[in-house]
Amino acid sequence: MSNASGRLVDRFGRVHTNLRVSVTDRCNIRCLYCMPNENVQFMPRDEILSFEEIARFVRVAAGLGVNKLRLTGGEPLVRHELAELIRLLARIEGIDDIALTTNGILLDQHARELKEAGLHRLNISLDTLDEDTYRQISRREGVDRIVAGIVAAQQAGFEKIRINAVTMRGINDQDVTTLSRFAREHDLEMRFIEFMPLDAENAWENELVVTGSEVRARLEDAFGPLVAAERGDPSQPAVDYNFADGGGRVGLINPVSEPFCDQCNRLRITAEGKIRNCLFSTTEWDARALLRGSASDAELADLIREAVSAKKRGHGIDEPHFVRPERAMYQIGG
Ligand code: SAM
Ligand code: SF4
Repeated sequence: MSNASGRLVDRFGRVHTNLRVSVTDRCNIRCLYCMPNENVQFMPRDEILSFEEIARFVRVAAGLGVNKLRLTGGEPLVRHELAELIRLLARIEGIDDIALTTNGILLDQHARELKEAGLHRLNISLDTLDEDTYRQISRREGVDRIVAGIVAAQQAGFEKIRINAVTMRGINDQDVTTLSRFAREHDLEMRFIEFMPLDAENAWENELVVTGSEVRARLEDAFGPLVAAERGDPSQPAVDYNFADGGGRVGLINPVSEPFCDQCNRLRITAEGKIRNCLFSTTEWDARALLRGSASDAELADLIREAVSAKKRGHGIDEPHFVRPERAMYQIGG
């Protein structure tokens, strides 16, 4: 029988409490590990979930034990009036943590209203401080604007801001130390993410992945020993280290070299309302059809439960029969 409550436990005992909501597939830059450079086919606007539809979905998910949200995309700050959505989500009973991942380009204009709307945490993506390298990666300009966005976010009262960098061999692996120095100097937490096979141009290959252990070795050469930090939340994807000299913390997210699927508690909904139980999922569940039909909350809850029940043990990147999802990262929501 259907009901709209009960926790989201999959076949492997993983309890899903963390929902990533993509609010758009549009973006103002074109990172080579995510989007095509040209001729991007964006979803028609009327296919994108409205704020009310997103809020209803989140309300139902919260009834199933989801308590953490991350808004992502595409670039969430290109979605008009995003703060209004945050305001709606912050009011939902059971949601006690709302985070946002942004490329930072528009952040200086929005940091204050995001904070006032109830956003708790910010991750800002910045792969290099060198404008030429930035242009090579994002096919746009941006370092100065992102740094201005970081400053604005700190002034708006965001604490423990994380900076995400995807490291790619021969492109920005040299930037690991400059980024970390910048983070140490500005009280930011640096996180390095291994490049995953989710780019739109099929350029991914194993040789381009700079593994977390390589990043760690580079950092130890530059700053001295890194000391493994206590693992507060086992489901968090990063392995955290403290700099032994007291200069802050760095996180390594190693989905390729050290998959953390065993601890995964994440569920996703794409901008047009498809539920995905994994970044690498090749199956989707159509929540929009229910949201725009006459379905009850209990039916929506059943769909979410079905997606969670079907979750595989792992992403299988390293398996011989691995199949890339048809969607690239910007169409999923990272
Ligand atoms: N536009 C926002 C941004 O860039 O922060 C949010 C969406 S973006 C898809 C979310 C995160 O995914 C970013 O930190 C980005 O660097 C990361 N990402 C994108 N493609 C990736 C890939 N192929 N492998 C690893 N991380 C990736
Ligand atoms: Fe845009 Fe983020 Fe993808 Fe870069 S990673 S192209 S900023 S969505």
